[in-house]
Amino acid sequence: MAKIFCVANQKGGVGKTTTTVNLAAGLAKLDQRVLLVDLDPQGNATMGAGINKAGLKASTYEVMLGTADVAAARQRSEPGHFDVLPSNRELAGAEVEMVELDNRERRLKDALAAVDKEYDFILIDCPPALSMLTLNGLCAAHGVIIPMQCEYYALEGLSDLVNTIKKVHANLNPDLKIIGLLRVMFDPRMTLSQQVSAQLEQHFGDKVFKTIIPRNVRLAEAPSYGVPGVTFDPTSKGAQAYIAFGAEMVKRIKKM
Ligand code: ADP
Ligand code: MG
Repeated sequence: MAKIFCVANQKGGVGKTTTTVNLAAGLAKLDQRVLLVDLDPQGNATMGAGINKAGLKASTYEVMLGTADVAAARQRSEPGHFDVLPSNRELAGAEVEMVELDNRERRLKDALAAVDKEYDFILIDCPPALSMLTLNGLCAAHGVIIPMQCEYYALEGLSDLVNTIKKVHANLNPDLKIIGLLRVMFDPRMTLSQQVSAQLEQHFGDKVFKTIIPRNVRLAEAPSYGVPGVTFDPTSKGAQAYIAFGAEMVKRIKKM
């Protein structure tokens, strides 16, 4: 059965989508069977995996509303060697439409149950909000991966996310854990980055992943080609870091 992870942080632009797409591709390189779930109406993970978000036959939206199942909606990321449950802006409507539905926090969990034997990892790219969509991600997951930049405001907002995760753990999903904080877009030449990074290790101990993702232009360029950075330039520092992070995750799930 797949281990399911949300990549979440309610801030935008902190590297959630880059992390989800490249971890998926990194795990695929390590022969793991991966499904990426795009839970963001922006559809950036869908495009970054090489799937055209315009004109999807079915998407996360239909799956959440129960009008399509995952097996019918998923597509293959050819460059990434993983499956994708794609999304586009239609998904924004689900937020409102789900209010009427039973079991509305568990729509995604229930839908994924039908395919979880086919994968080792299911990775969920969350939108930048603590919304009903994100809540569905948290209810479906065994753990949360929190990407963060090592900058002055990094910790601001983290407590809201941690409190939400605690509430979900207490009331809706006792399996849910914070797996770890992932330092991304790291610039080792900046003293401030080094300081914040050291502070994170002090405060959060082994909840901070050992792998650090550097700021690397190849990772930023790759989406415009519809290819994960890991595939686009496998020898780049960014790609190598995400492959190393994949290996760290494979080790972690053996202990779960
Ligand atoms: P989010 O999904 O949290 O909004 P993204 O993954 O889309 O964040 O990243 C925001 C921007 O930063 C994007 O333009 C992305 O290409 C860039 N980016 C993310 N990680 C890196 C990195 N390690 N090095 C360079 N650019 C990065
Ligand atoms: Mg994103």
